This record gives sequence, C-alpha cells and structure tokens, in this order.
Amino acid sequence: MVLSMCIRQLCQASHLQGAWRAAFLKHIQCRRQGARRWTHSGGGTYRAVIFDMGGVLIPSPGRVAAEWEVQNQIPSGTILKALILGGDKGPWMTFMRGELTTEDFLQEFGRLCSEISETRVPVDSFFSLLTSEQVAKQFPVMTEAITQIRAKGLRTAVLSNNFYLPDGKSFLPLDRKQFDVVVESCLEGICKPDPRIYKLCLERLGLQPSESIFLDDLGLNVKAAASLGIRTIKVDDPETAVKELETLLGFTLRKVIPNTRPVRKTMEIPKDSLKKYLQDFLGTQTTGPMELLQFEHGQSNPTYYIRLANHQLVLRKKPPGTLLPSAHAVEREFRIMRALAKAGVPVPKVLDLCEDSRIVGTPFYLMEYCPGLVYKDPSLPGLEPSQRRAIYTAMNRVLCQIHSVDLKAAGLEDYGKPGDYIPRQVQTWIKQYRASETSTIPAMERLIEWLPLHLPRQQKTTVVHGDFRLDNLLFHPEKTEVLAVLDWELSTLGDPLADVAFSCLAHYLPSSFPILRGLSDCDVTQLGIPTAEEYSRMYCRHTGSPPIENWNFYLAFSFFRVAAILQGIYKRSLTGQASSATAEQSGKLTEFTSNLAWDFAVKEGFRLFKDMPATKPLMRSYHTWAGPQSRLHTPGTRSYVSIPEASPARASKGALVISPEGLCPPVRELYQRLKQFMERHVYPAEPELRSHQASSERWTPSPLVEELKEKAKTEGLWNLFLPLETDPEKKYGAGLTNVEYAHLCELMGMSLYAPEIFNCSAPDTGNMELLVRYGTEEQKARWLIPLLEGKARSCFAMTEPQVASSDATNIESSIREEEGFYVINGHKWWISGILDPRCQLCVFMGKTDPHAPRHQQQSVLLVPMDTPGIKILRPLTVYGLDDAPGGHGEVLFEQVHVPKENMILGPGRGFEIAQGRLGPGRIHHCMRLIGYSERALALMKARVKSRVAFGKPLVEQGTLLADIAQSRVEIEQARLLVLKAAHLMDVAGNKVGGRGASQVRRPEVVRESIDTDSSFPIRQTVETLGTLLQLYLGLFGQLFKTGKGRSFRYCHD
Ligand SMILES: Cc1cc2nc3c(=O)[nH]c(=O)nc-3n(C[C@H](O)[C@H](O)[C@H](O)COP(=O)(O)OP(=O)(O)OC[C@H]3O[C@@H](n4cnc5c(N)ncnc54)[C@H](O)[C@@H]3O)c2cc1C
Repeated sequence: MVLSMCIRQLCQASHLQGAWRAAFLKHIQCRRQGARRWTHSGGGTYRAVIFDMGGVLIPSPGRVAAEWEVQNQIPSGTILKALILGGDKGPWMTFMRGELTTEDFLQEFGRLCSEISETRVPVDSFFSLLTSEQVAKQFPVMTEAITQIRAKGLRTAVLSNNFYLPDGKSFLPLDRKQFDVVVESCLEGICKPDPRIYKLCLERLGLQPSESIFLDDLGLNVKAAASLGIRTIKVDDPETAVKELETLLGFTLRKVIPNTRPVRKTMEIPKDSLKKYLQDFLGTQTTGPMELLQFEHGQSNPTYYIRLANHQLVLRKKPPGTLLPSAHAVEREFRIMRALAKAGVPVPKVLDLCEDSRIVGTPFYLMEYCPGLVYKDPSLPGLEPSQRRAIYTAMNRVLCQIHSVDLKAAGLEDYGKPGDYIPRQVQTWIKQYRASETSTIPAMERLIEWLPLHLPRQQKTTVVHGDFRLDNLLFHPEKTEVLAVLDWELSTLGDPLADVAFSCLAHYLPSSFPILRGLSDCDVTQLGIPTAEEYSRMYCRHTGSPPIENWNFYLAFSFFRVAAILQGIYKRSLTGQASSATAEQSGKLTEFTSNLAWDFAVKEGFRLFKDMPATKPLMRSYHTWAGPQSRLHTPGTRSYVSIPEASPARASKGALVISPEGLCPPVRELYQRLKQFMERHVYPAEPELRSHQASSERWTPSPLVEELKEKAKTEGLWNLFLPLETDPEKKYGAGLTNVEYAHLCELMGMSLYAPEIFNCSAPDTGNMELLVRYGTEEQKARWLIPLLEGKARSCFAMTEPQVASSDATNIESSIREEEGFYVINGHKWWISGILDPRCQLCVFMGKTDPHAPRHQQQSVLLVPMDTPGIKILRPLTVYGLDDAPGGHGEVLFEQVHVPKENMILGPGRGFEIAQGRLGPGRIHHCMRLIGYSERALALMKARVKSRVAFGKPLVEQGTLLADIAQSRVEIEQARLLVLKAAHLMDVAGNKVGGRGASQVRRPEVVRESIDTDSSFPIRQTVETLGTLLQLYLGLFGQLFKTGKGRSFRYCHD
C-alpha cells in the first residue's frame, strides 16, 4: 500500500524520468504517444487551402534552372527568359495547356534558348533534371503542413500548371492522397492565371472563393486568384509561406518533433560550420534555413534534430570535456547501426561519422530522422487485442532478428568480449550498486551473493541491444511493423537471453511504476498481449532454441540491474536538486525492484531444488544403501561407522529437505532411531550426568557416557557427522549430506551430553574431518582410527591470549625446524578438551614463516599430548561452568619437539586447513543450537501450562502466548537458514556454505528463547532451572566461540 502510494506520487516526479534516461544513457529520437487524429474543425473561416505545385510544393522551375545553368555554363537567366517569352502563346504556356507534346516543346524551347543565349542549350538535360525524382520532391515542411491542415478537418487542393511527360502521363510528382481536389492544367486545357481554372478548382472543392487560401510563387497567378476573392499567399520560401499560412489559419502547421526543445544554452553547437558541413555532405540541393532542435533526453550524448531543405536528420555527438576512453562511444553506435542495417535489422539509417572535432566541437554521427510511432504505454490503449498481439509479436521478431545476425559476416566479431557476458554484467552492476549504496537493502545483499552462484552455465554470444523495450521501437504509423530499433548505446556482444528477459520487465511492474510503466495489474490475456512466458516461448520457437529453463535467473538479474540503476538515481537525487521527500520516495523504488528480483531468485531456487536430484553429481544410488538388516560389518572389512553404506537413493546432495519427514526413508529411519535413543537413554541419563559434572569426580569421564557410547555404536548411531563430500566413498563416515546430518544434529543438540555419546562432538569432529581430508595414510592410521572408534579424544589449539584470534593470520606461536623436528613455542587458551584424560592428540596451529605472504605463514602440526613441554596452566570457565572433563585450557607450549612427518599438508598450509576445518565445525554448532532452542521452548511450554497465576494458567496470559509464538517463529527462521547453509555446503562447497553459516542468527535465537523463558519465576524452579541454566551457559560457550561483537553484547546484558 505504502509503496504503491509512493509510486503514484513518484509519477509526478519528472526529474526521475530524466534521470532514468540519463542513467540509461538515452537518446530518444522520436517519441509519439500513438497515432492521433485531430478532430478539431479548423481555425477561422477558411475551409480549404489550394497549393500551386512548382515553387510551392516542389522546387520551382526557375530555381532549378538557375542552378542548372551554373553547372552547364549556360548564360544565367536563359531558361527563365525562354519560359516567359511569348506569354500566353509562348511554348511553355502552350505546353502547360497540353497543346504540345514533350518532343515538340523541347524542340521549340531549345531553339528559343539558343537564340537568347547565342549558344547551343541542351534543354533535354534541363527537362530531365526538372522532372527527376531527385529534384521533384515535395518539401517536408509542406507535407507536414498538408497533414496538419487535413487533421484539422480542412480540405486541400493542388492547382498546378503542369505538362505531359514523354510517356503520356501528366507530371505530378506528389502523393495524390494528400489532396481532396487535383486540378492539372495540361488535363484541363487551361492554365493559371486564367480565372476559369481557379473557379474549376473551387467548384470541385464546393467552396466559395473567400473560404479558401491559395499559395503560388508567381505574382501573376496570385493576383488572378485575389481578384476572384480568394485569400492568397505569395510564396518566395516555403518555410516562410507556411508561417504565414499558420497565421491565417490560426493553428500550427508544423509537426512538433516529439521530445525536442530549443537547444539549451550550454549545449549550443556552431550552426554555421555545421550547415556548411551538411551542405557539402548532402550536395548542392540543400538551400534554405537550417532548423536545429535538441532532444530533451540524451544528456550523455547530446542529440539534435536538424531540418535542412528536404532533409530531416539526427545528429548525435559526444559531450564536451575530458571523457573516459570507453564512455560516450558514438563511434560504436555508428558502427553497430551501420552493420545491422546491412544485415537487414531495422535501424535508423546512419549517414556519416565525423571524427573531426572542429565542426561541432566533438566527434558526431548523422542519421536520418525516422518519423514513426513509439508506444510508451505497454498496455497499448486504444488498440484492438489483435493489434496488440501483432505489435508484441513484431517486437519479438525484431529481437530474434538482432540475435540472428551473423557476427562474422557483419564484421562484428570484435564488437564485444566473447562469452561470460552475464558474469561480467553481474560484477559490473554489483560495483555500480556498491558505489551508490546509501543503506543496506537486504534483498540486494542476498542477490549479490546469489547471482554469482547461479550464473547460466552456457551462454550464446550474439549482438545484444542492452535496453530492449517496447518504447525503444519505432513503429510504422499504419502497420504493425518495426521501422527502427533505437538506443544502441548499451549494445555489445553478449547473452541474448538477457535481452529477452529485459524486454519482459513491464509484465512484472505495476502500471503506476514511474519511469518504466508496467502491466502487472492488467489482464494481459484479455488485452491480447502475450504473457512473459508466451513471449519467451515465442522467441525460442522463432530462433529454434530450447525453452529457457533458468528464465527466472534472467529476470532476477534484469531486476537487479534496474534496482542498481535506481539506486544510482536515488544517490544523485540526494545530492542534487530534488526535494528530500521525492528523493526519499525514489529510494523506495530500489527496494521494490530488488524485492521483485529476489522473488525471481527464490523461484529459480525452487526450480533448482526440484531438478537437482536428477542432475547433480555425487548422487547416491539406492542399491548401495545396506538397510538396517545388513548393518553388520562385512567380515574382514574394517568400518568406523555404524552404517556401512548409507546411500539412500532419493536424497541427493542437492536436495534441501526442511523437515525430518522429507528425508529419504533410510535417513528418516535413522532419524527415528536416534530420536528413540535420545528418549530411551540420553534424556533419562541427564540428571546423573549433571550430578557427575558437579561432583569432585568431574575431571574423570563419566562411566555412564562410556556405556552409552558403546550402546550407540552397536545401534548404528555413530560417526554420523562426516559429510559425504569429505568422504565420498563412505570409508569413514555415514555418508550423510550436510542437510541430512543437520536434522540429526539438531536432535543431538537437544541434550548437551548427546553429541559425545554419538561420537559427534567438537572438537573431535573437526579434527577427524581434517585428518580425513588432509592426513597421510600414516597419520590416519595413528590418529584418525582411534578417534573414529571413540577410543581417543583430541583438541585443537589455535587461539592465543595476546592476539585477536578470530583472524587466524594473527596467530604468533612459532614452529621452527630443528634437526629433523619441528619445535613449538607458544601460549594458547580456550583449548577445549585438552584437560580430558582421554585426549591424546593436539592439532596445533602456529607460524612456520612469519615473512611469507600473510596466508602462507601458518602450519598445522599433530602434537601427541604426551610430548614434553605441554604445560596446562588452568581450566577456563564460561560463567562458572568449566565443561569438565574436557574443559577449556590455557596452555603453554615450550620447546615442544614434534617429528617432521606430523606436519599436515606441508608448511604454509595452516590457514587453508583451518578454513576447511571451520566450515563444517561452524555449521554443526548451528545445527545443535537449533536443538538447544527447541528444548528451551519445550521446557517453557510445559512450565506455563503447569503454573497458575491470578486465577488462570500462565499460558492463558496473552503476552506469554505472544512470546511463545515469537520464539517459534525465530527458531523456524534460524532452522531454515541453517538448512540453507548446509545445502549450500552440499552443492557449492564449504566456503560458500560456511559463509551462509556465519550469517545464521544462531546464538541470538537461542538466547532469546531461553531469555523469554527465564524472564519470569521459572528461575525458582530448581529442576527446570538446571537444564535451562546449562543451556544458557552452554550457549555462552558458543557465543564466545563465534567471537562476534553482538554475542559479547549479550554477555554484558
Ligand atoms: C567455550 C569456548 C571454547 C573454545 N574452544 C576453542 C578451541 O578448542 N580451540 C581454539 O583454538 N579456540 C577455542 N576457543 C576460542 C575461540 O575460537 C575464540 O574465542 C574466537 O576465535 C575469537 O577469538 P578471540 O577470543 O581472540 O577474540 P578476538 O578476535 O580478539 O575478538 C573477537 C571480536 O572481534 C570482532 N570480530 C571478529 N571477527 C568478526 C567478524 N567477522 N564480524 C564481526 N565482528 C568480528 C567481534 O567484536 C568479536 O567479538 C573457544 C572459545 C570458547 C568461549
């Protein structure tokens, strides 16, 4: 609602329109709202205009003769004298009355001319020129005037002294349809200034003399008309005559060139040098004044309308000043339009590229002005459904035509970089957006992550327009035919589907959307307009290409691009003239379009999820799933996981399953058994385990945990954590995907004791994965196997008190090489598990070369815990909880000698290893924390149902219900995020997924669930408090581990 209101208000913000154009580096050659028929009944009392032909509608014989004489070195004035000679009885007038054949006339006329000039005069050549198509062309100014006169409902006539041509037809090089009445002297046998021919004309018009205006270039003819009572105009220059006629008629006779205005002061160009250049370029026939207007838009490359004699041109130039080398490339526009015209694509005809800056100050090119219709409103008001469909079909066809141009034949192979258009575009628009970013827009952030991950795998390379929309097409006024495709500034070589999607933007925008009027609130089918899907199918059918399966990606990208452009406009509006209210509103448009873009990204995501099982590699085949009955080890084969071949078919690593019910049957069954195990063995053991942790025996592992571990192992609930990706052959782990494990891990997170019972607890899980990924066979045999079997435990030593250890490159502990050993010296803390008597291995991170590049200074060593020099200074506590028996130790490493073969991967690889280890580790924390949250919420619900205050159960207090609902919503959100991150790790790898994991609101949600619970007298209930307090403290352990600022803020609450 608010948004649509803003949009409506923005419709009035005309600056935006201009800004959009500027942003799109527009020039708009011809814009007309559509074919309009004037219904006005004319001005004043005049009802018709009568035109002479030669000298009024087309060049006069006298003028043509003057130029011809100069060119043929005939004494000046010869022809004119011969034309007049003999008056009414002379050869010219006789010829005009149709009394002489062309042959006889030329003979007689030639003789006369020779007598006058005393030289042989080739009158045939003059006659050919006079009647040639090149010369005998109607003045555009007159064509426009006639159109306007008729549009106002007035009648028109041509009253011409003309003659027969050699082929026996009369000479009338005009479109007869422009006139209601045509009177030709050679056909009538009478000619002007004979009054009879005027009367004949008036009679045919059915008008009185006073009701018409007559235009002629000969005074004699004008006089005769005037004497009959006709209003007359003596024509010396057609432009001036039209102005005079305008005054008499009282309305404009010039077609207003749409979207033009007088040239801005700052954009003026030297008229004289331009006119001279045009006269040279166009030839000698260019006489008369030059009209120069400027197109309103196109500030990027100033664009001008020029009318000079018969020519209507468009000049487009670079702006003045210092320019970036690739910007304002008018040469490129000229090149593409010329090449496309040759290839048959309708574009304005380019005439000349002038790189000489002396003419108008900067290089420019010229093209023909192309009058036509531009449909600005995509709903095409006033047209029939069939016409609308035809217009969209024509648009589609012309796009196919552009994309089918043979690059080699058109000489356009080097017009852009081949391939990778979309990746480059995505990066370009991300950069543009970042450069104009004013605040964080969540959808934009998501798109910036999403788009690069979903780039189309295959892209064709063709000419792309870059801004292909209905209103960039010029249509024939009467046919549904595209006359010209305009605005080529963003054209290049690229992926044609970007153009197809871009041309459908209107389908998804509301009609009130400023800048780009849309169709989303129209019933396009009823209007006859193809839907976007039909449009894209039409394109595919016509180009013979397969359906566009990632269509939604292209739409997401197109709207992202629009959002980035709008953000640029918004940023400029903040610093510019726009009122703060308007600027604020324009900011909303970015958000609106980015949300639209994200909608398409989501749709594309769903499509991918649906398609993935069939297309992704590493799909597990069903037959390898051993099933519960065959879960016994094959004799002689060593297995470290209680599920030898966990390979359910339907769950591929590509599937995002959002609830345990959606898991494939074998994993669902595993989930059920884990759940039962938790209910039967783990939850009931909690009070005893809690007591053990509080007792003086707490630094000795609880025998109950060891007992439950053995039970879990035999029940096949063991080492479930190792992801399929790390262990594709399922040599060591259960072969679950991260998504599958996420559901199981959440279940384990319901109890703080559970992860260890299933051999799925940190830091062993990370260390085991590290050994599987990077360990040598010897290292695996020595350390990995005992860990997988649950016979040993391990720790990971990275964090140091003296440096900010969230950045692993800060680590200072040294690892020096000395006589076949590595010698370690360093101070570490928060080393979880190091106090556990079962801890046999310390995975140690230190610096081998402080002078190497920043990320190659670190190395990882496997340090046996019984190596001399390891001194545990103290166990650390989190809010008083020491996490016995593993604890979190502060430790000194002094001259600790480690065999060289204990190095993992090699010197300098430590950072890389730590990153690899952290990905799954982080997400496992997240998965468990969702379980924590569920447990806390369950406790809360139980409690509010059981207690009564002020006469009713707590649960009936409205605010408590709201709190519960809030917690539920937040847990669900967090779970979806965790699952998405796990999914990304499955399909895009640990790095990308890890990034997703780091965005998960993991600790906050849990804290909020627990906080909600503990904000009322619950703290007084010892039994519940025990679990909650543990959850709370466990949570703070996690908060500190993540090392994020927000987490610390909560600690101080
Ligand atoms: C219970 C517990 C167990 C632990 N177990 C181990 C273990 O087994 N092995 C081990 O080596 N370490 C362990 N740690 C240490 C833990 O890895 C570090 O505390 C963590 O990496 C942060 O490092 P730091 O304490 O040096 O904090 P610092 O790096 O000094 O500071 C962290 C702070 O920096 C800022 N910060 C850093 N990065 C970002 C970011 N990306 N975004 C926003 N803000 C950021 C935040 O304000 C954050 O709070 C454990 C910690 C705890 C609490």
